[in-house]
Amino acid sequence: MRKDDCIFCKIAAGDIPSNTVYEDERFRVILDLNPASKGHALVLPKNHADDIFDLSEEDRASVLSVAARVAAAMKKALCCSGINIVQNNGESAGQTVKHFHLHIIPRYDGDSAMVLWNPGKSDPEEQKKTAESIKAALE
Ligand code: 5GP
Ligand code: ZN
Repeated sequence: MRKDDCIFCKIAAGDIPSNTVYEDERFRVILDLNPASKGHALVLPKNHADDIFDLSEEDRASVLSVAARVAAAMKKALCCSGINIVQNNGESAGQTVKHFHLHIIPRYDGDSAMVLWNPGKSDPEEQKKTAESIKAALE
């Protein structure tokens, strides 16, 4: 299931060339065009999904094991000291390409790649209510 005007559908299908590091029948893993660090890669499902909410159950179930295999290969090949796995959904979360993708970002001691947030403060009552509301909405 491809979406006609989707660049990641075209890359995942091999219609647009990419630096592919892994491929199977459901996924292609490519190097990011604007890497946050050396080896920054994207796991692309071949079936189009806008975001995590749209991703098929099959792809959801296997995307992390693909990422884990590639991350292990990066540790060997690139000698990175850490790995960030990042996945953005929606503009407010920083998603710029509307085809689900999971970032694998190798990290090196002292590098300047930014995958950070400012730790906030939590209020115990507020936290309890927040947890309850999420629990109640689980399907
Ligand atoms: P997002 O911000 O949506 O989570 O991440 C989109 C990522 O896709 C960015 O890191 C961006 O550099 C990368 N990207 C956008 N267009 C292309 C492309 O045509 N080829 C490759 N390899 N990466 C792309
Ligand atoms: Zn697509």
